[in-house]
Amino acid sequence: MAVTLNIIAMPELQKYIQKIRRYKEKLKKIITRIGISYPIEFELNDEPSKRLILPCHLGILFFGDFDVSFFKKIIINLNYIFDSFFFNIRNLGGYNFTVKLFYKGVKKEYREMKKSSDKIKIHPTNKFYQILIDKRIEENLGMILAITDLPIFSSNNDNILFLFGETHLKHRCCLVSSLKLKEQFYNRPENRDLFEERILKEIIHEIGHLILGPNHCHNYFCVMKFSKDIYKIDEKKKELCETCKIKLNKIREELNF
Ligand SMILES: [Zn+2]
Ligand SMILES: [Zn+2]
Repeated sequence: MAVTLNIIAMPELQKYIQKIRRYKEKLKKIITRIGISYPIEFELNDEPSKRLILPCHLGILFFGDFDVSFFKKIIINLNYIFDSFFFNIRNLGGYNFTVKLFYKGVKKEYREMKKSSDKIKIHPTNKFYQILIDKRIEENLGMILAITDLPIFSSNNDNILFLFGETHLKHRCCLVSSLKLKEQFYNRPENRDLFEERILKEIIHEIGHLILGPNHCHNYFCVMKFSKDIYKIDEKKKELCETCKIKLNKIREELNF
């Protein structure tokens, strides 16, 4: 009896398997496009010959659920630190894509990463970078910054890092994640002022890399000091040290502006 039933069910089963296969392919495509873990190196496409020319136009793009009213404070701080380096700083608004799916995927990866000590192959920052590169070209900007409340992982490091931010010098774009800058992330009550201080420091730090280069500063209070955790961010100031200011002035003098 059971055998007969299996034979009858076979065509139906085949159809079902086909359907699942098609669905799997579709899902794979979506995953590759939006940047959830997929073990293929993601090649960045950019204009081949163009490099950073200063002063320049800077654009800021918001990914995910983010309070854009904060934009004015960002401009004031960047113009104060990098005086005369920007013709203007443009608000590019929120980037509208399937944030929920993206968020779910990255969140799952983060959980898996915590569970296992094995290396998981993920490349999310490159997925962000391609969107940024395209936007930078489209808007004719010298450099572009993205701010997100999503957790980000480095595409450029062999070790997986759960980062506050990252800069891609070659492609003139940088990324800051606000998620781990919030007190709530550490199960403490919300502190808006502290959060804003932290995110401004990280924004200045990443833009600082785009202008000053990849090196970190060793001065204890300098915004260009590397911060491995939230406490290190709180220790440093929202400003460049004298050594970094001299470097910045040298660039300004060399380029004559
Ligand atoms: Zn850095
Ligand atoms: Zn410094």
